[in-house]
This record gives sequence, C-alpha cells and structure tokens, in this order.
Amino acid sequence: MMKLASRVSLIKPSPTLVITTKAATLRAQGRDVIDFGVGEPDFNTPDNIKAAAIQAVETNFTRYTAVGGIDELKDAIIRKLELDNQLSYKRSEIVVSCGAKHTIFNLAQALFEEGDEVIVPAPYWVSYPDIVILTGARPVIVKTLEKNGFKMTADELEAAVTDKTKAIIVNSPSNPTGAVYSKDELAALAEVVLRHNLIVVSDDIYEKILYDDFPFWNMAAVNPAVKNLTVVVNGVSKAYAMTGWRIGYAAGPEPLIAAIGKIQSQSTSNPTSISQKAAVEALMGDQTIIARMVAEFQNRRDYIVSTLNAIDGISCPRPQGAFYVFPNVSSLYGLSYGDKKIQNSATLAEYLLEESEVAVVPGVAFGDDNYIRISYATSMDLITEGLNRIGEALKRLT
Ligand SMILES: *Cc1c(COP(=O)(O)O)cnc(C)c1O
Repeated sequence: MMKLASRVSLIKPSPTLVITTKAATLRAQGRDVIDFGVGEPDFNTPDNIKAAAIQAVETNFTRYTAVGGIDELKDAIIRKLELDNQLSYKRSEIVVSCGAKHTIFNLAQALFEEGDEVIVPAPYWVSYPDIVILTGARPVIVKTLEKNGFKMTADELEAAVTDKTKAIIVNSPSNPTGAVYSKDELAALAEVVLRHNLIVVSDDIYEKILYDDFPFWNMAAVNPAVKNLTVVVNGVSKAYAMTGWRIGYAAGPEPLIAAIGKIQSQSTSNPTSISQKAAVEALMGDQTIIARMVAEFQNRRDYIVSTLNAIDGISCPRPQGAFYVFPNVSSLYGLSYGDKKIQNSATLAEYLLEESEVAVVPGVAFGDDNYIRISYATSMDLITEGLNRIGEALKRLT
C-alpha cells in the first residue's frame, strides 16, 4: 500500500467541484439534473478573444514564454489596474499564473508558514482555508453576520488579530454571498490593517460583476498607505467568460512577485502562451461584452431573489455582485420526509438533488451551515424550472 504524505489528509476536494461531479454522474444516468452548483459564467468566450488565440496558434506562438507572463500581457494588466482601480504598478510588480486560484496558491506558498495565522472572513470561498492549511499556517475564520451584509467589520477584524496574524483575505464581490464592501467599510478595515501591519490579499475576481451601479473599490486604492501591504489578485475567468483558459494574475510588492515567479519557475513554468495572447485581447479589446453579461445576470438575480423569498422557509438577501445567491434555509431544519430529517445544509442539498434533481452547494462548504449557495450562471429557463422544483420539493417536507 502506497503511503501518501500527511498533508493530503489535511485538506478536502473543492466541495463545489464535488457537487458538480455528482450532478454530472446523475445526468449520465439519464436524470434531468439542473445544476445550480456551477461557479462559472454560462456565456461563451467572446469571438474577438477566441480569434486572438487562433492567431497565436497560427503564428506559432506556442512555445515557453517568460515564467511570469509576456510583457505584452503585463502591460495590459498594468493599464487595466491604472484605468479601473487607480493603482500603478511596474512590470516587476506583476506576475501571471494559471488562473487566479493558482495565483492565490502561489502567493500563499510565498508568504505563509507554520506559526502564521491568516484571517479568512466567513462565508468564504471554499479554497481559501485549504490553500492556507497547505502552507502550514492556520486559517482563522471570522464569521460575518447577515445583518452586516456578510461583511467583516473593523471591530471583528481587530478582535481576531493576534501577534501571529500575518494577513487577511478580502473577497469583494464575494463568492458565495455576493457582498460588496463599500469605500467607507474598506477605509475602516484599512485602519486596522495599518495598525497591525497586516498583508491584504485582495481577491478581486468578481470586480466586474456588480449590480445597481454599485462602485468597486480595492483597499489599496481607498487608502494608499495600504498599497505596500496589498497583493491584488484578479484574472479573466469571470469577467470574460474564460474559466477554461486559466489566466490569473497578482500585482504587489516586487519581492513577493519575484518569490511567486521563483515558485512558478519550479512548478508550472509559464501560463499557456496561447491563453496569454487571448487575455491581452480580453483586457485591451471591446469591453461591451461585460455590460451585456452583467445586465443578464442582474435580471436573473432580481427574479431569483424575489422567487426564493416567496417560498416558505427561505429568506434570501439581495446580493450586490457576483452570480450567486446565498439564501438562509435554517428554518427548514428539523422538517422531515419519509423517515429522514433535514438537519443541516448538507442534508438539504442532498434532498434537493435526490428529490427534485436540483444541485445546490451546502453553505457548510463556505463556513456557514444556515445557508445554501445557488449559482445563477445558468439560463433563465433553467432557473425558472429549478426554482419551481425547489418550491415543490420543500412543500413535501413535514
Ligand atoms: C472563480 C474564483 C477564483 C478563481 O478563478 P480562476 O478561474 O482560477 O482564475 C478565485 N476566487 C474566487 C472567489 C472565485 O470564485
């Protein structure tokens, strides 16, 4: 029997991918499963971006590139950060990786180690705690409250800081809650960050998916003193419907960026050359695709929030960004079907998948068992049908 390294048992497979796989298995058995588990836009990558990739292939731009990305892409990222975020960087302060998840993995490897604590506000994106654990550091989960819009307050942050705290992870707009920090909220957090000299990992991947003209802010732009302590993480997956292309990036202090480059040079080497050319086109080309996508997401959000709130036992806050709703389902706990009981978010998700063939992700995966996550990165027809099924299935509980 082959003995695996103990670190493997410290982490779990991404629960969102587990649900998607389970839904796919049921589907392969011929069952008509509606998948609300997905974490990627349902739109196709825009044609101009695909054309840039095809051209890269045809002109043989198919060899290794610089480990941290081609200058052309770094320059496009620098321009984007300047225009969208009022943040200026040099090429040596940018590194491109194989998706933003890879970026976060690499920066964690470069920054964290045994004895460090990393503050992760909950509900959190499923990968943060495990990425931190793999470095030997300890994730410190700070539970945020629905009444505060699922946003960590300065007092909550202050209370979680110890002399071991190395960093905080900020994800706005948030996966799974869709919460977006305002400028004032970030300014208050910045005070605590500066007082304790904390590193800020700012995962801005949903920056472009915002509703009701809510403005996006990064803490480093709100308070320039925080910039030297901040690593901005972003990518093309969510804004440009490019999840499969695997391009993400970090912008931050040069020594950290160089360290990420060193780690990458001994692991993946460069991100795919073809995808890099596509990402240049995404950042430099026509941006109208984003507005069209967001308008469609907003229609779906409005429909899904009002429909869910009309179902007995569900209470759904209205998210300000991303493409998920995070309804509170805890008042259903204790209800039964047959000889089984809904006890928590996992048993509810199982019930919905088995009884109504709708896949949702249990909130426990995101650090809050009172909720489930429903992705609306799927067509209006499927959303309508899926919510009908959920409503019907919940009526059968006694
Ligand atoms: C999707 C997602 C990412 C990673 O996206 P990549 O495809 O790896 O670029 C990072 N953070 C959050 C919160 C996400 O939802």
